[in-house]
Amino acid sequence: MKVSVDADRCRGHGACLGLCPEVFTLTDSGYAEAAAGAVPAHLEDAVADAVSACPESAIVIE
Ligand code: SF4
Repeated sequence: MKVSVDADRCRGHGACLGLCPEVFTLTDSGYAEAAAGAVPAHLEDAVADAVSACPESAIVIE
């Protein structure tokens, strides 16, 4: 699984960071960014929770 954040949709609420801080970080501009590369298997459920929790539907699983 790979994941990315659509910068045009993200509004910086931070729900994703609360659910999976190992993958999601806030940039200096206040929006979320996903770590590059494959999501470690033990974090896939947390990433899926973040996808569900994002109020802007900004998180895309590739
Ligand atoms: S939950 Fe969605 S809108 Fe909020 S910071 Fe994360 S990606 Fe952006």
